[in-house]
Amino acid sequence: MSVIYSGEVRCPVCGAPTFRYVQLLYETPYFGNVLIESGYCSTCGYRLFDVDYAETGRPTRVLFKPRDGLDVAKSFIVRSKTGTIYSPDLGFTLEPGSHGEPFITTVEGFLYKVIDYAERLKVLEPESAGQVDKFIQTVQRKIDEGGFTLVVEDPLGKSVIIPYREDTVTVEHLD
Ligand SMILES: [Zn+2]
Repeated sequence: MSVIYSGEVRCPVCGAPTFRYVQLLYETPYFGNVLIESGYCSTCGYRLFDVDYAETGRPTRVLFKPRDGLDVAKSFIVRSKTGTIYSPDLGFTLEPGSHGEPFITTVEGFLYKVIDYAERLKVLEPESAGQVDKFIQTVQRKIDEGGFTLVVEDPLGKSVIIPYREDTVTVEHLD
């Protein structure tokens, strides 16, 4: 990963010089060069997030199988607005509609977010708390140990996983 640009510039929305802007370039075996733009204005709250790369535009399914905790901690997940993330063995799905914010984070960071959602669910549905606790324990263990499957599907092919070890990722084109 290389940082092409990082700094505070003029905000394209409100014009204040408080727009923190970062441009990153990842070189990946499956996606070619992935260019990520991310920005946040502390004055007006405007957020920018965009992903661009050669393979973009085709419906894509990315399968990620971390072997251990290192793969979980050091691999990145880029989710665009149209990406769905699910895990058949952990038993959750994050649809584009719900929590539709695009993001880039480590897989570990993403799974902690899943645990956060589950904690909130427990408050809303106290009767299923036991089941949710079991789910949280499983996710926590998988963060430490790996050994599960994470799937990212995107009709526009804009969501990717940038793996720590290349052989943990396979990419299928759905068209
Ligand atoms: Zn602004």
